[in-house]
Amino acid sequence: MGINIAVLVKQIPDPSVEGSLDSSFRFNRSGKIVLDEADLYGVEIALSLVESAGEGKITVISMVPDGETTGVRTALAMGADEAIVISDSALENSHALATAKVLNAAIDTLGDIDLIISGTESSDGYTGTIPAQIGGLRNISALTFATSVEVNGDEIQIRRQSNEGIDTLKASLPAVVSVTAGVVEPRYPNFKGIMAAKSKPVSVKSLSDLGVDFESLNIDSQSVISIDDAPNRQAGVRIEDPSIAADKIIEYLQGTGVL
Ligand SMILES: Cc1cc2nc3c(=O)[nH]c(=O)nc-3n(C[C@H](O)[C@H](O)[C@H](O)COP(=O)(O)OP(=O)(O)OC[C@H]3O[C@@H](n4cnc5c(N)ncnc54)[C@H](O)[C@@H]3O)c2cc1C
Repeated sequence: MGINIAVLVKQIPDPSVEGSLDSSFRFNRSGKIVLDEADLYGVEIALSLVESAGEGKITVISMVPDGETTGVRTALAMGADEAIVISDSALENSHALATAKVLNAAIDTLGDIDLIISGTESSDGYTGTIPAQIGGLRNISALTFATSVEVNGDEIQIRRQSNEGIDTLKASLPAVVSVTAGVVEPRYPNFKGIMAAKSKPVSVKSLSDLGVDFESLNIDSQSVISIDDAPNRQAGVRIEDPSIAADKIIEYLQGTGVL
């Protein structure tokens, strides 16, 4: 039986190429598409959980324009078992909640899922809201910003770095976990993995393939009305004489009203 895991992975424009916005201020996604590096960590954690459980299944799920599959093939080459890619022209202009609803509908097609794993935030859009939205839509716990994940029976435990120290959180399965980037070393797909990935199932689905009527998603439309460049950072104040540094800091904090 083992553990049944869905990993949400975003396929994004190649970050080594300078990005651009179209006339509607939308990110131009027409060039080379890759698996978001932020999602390699979720795939790695899923693979290690299946290894610890002895058996299990990992399905990667991605919503993307134009039926792109290059990024999910990377996850399959690492060792995931199968992929679902949702692509539908009706989803053009989808904002984060719309994306979460569609990903959730795809998860529904997998039957009994023990765990849903995502990154904490994507590299290109980064609202950082998808994992909590999926938790809300499914009415299950969302354990966010995990630095380590353990599953024991039908309970999950994560550790999370906070300002105060390390929090340990527990919840019953099924649950959603968002994994902090950089916490594990994602395995590199080897030649055998890359060859095996070619024959693993990848199903590209439209909304109707998922059995979802666009209207039933109840997605309010959203548009970006303007974008301004971020202001240049102001030069800081440099204090070179340590004997006056503390007084200067207190003076600064009093000036801002903090003290
Ligand atoms: C007005 C508007 C129009 C937009 N139009 C488009 C569009 O036409 N085409 C388009 O592609 N995007 C579009 N976007 C962006 C898209 O909606 C967001 O990228 C998406 O909602 C995910 O949000 P995020 O990147 O902030 O996710 P975050 O919450 O930052 O991501 C956290 C994690 O959620 C998972 N995740 C996020 N997105 C996906 C995904 N797509 N598939 C699988 N897992 C995912 C990953 O595990 C990721 O690490 C639009 C956004 C807005 C505001």
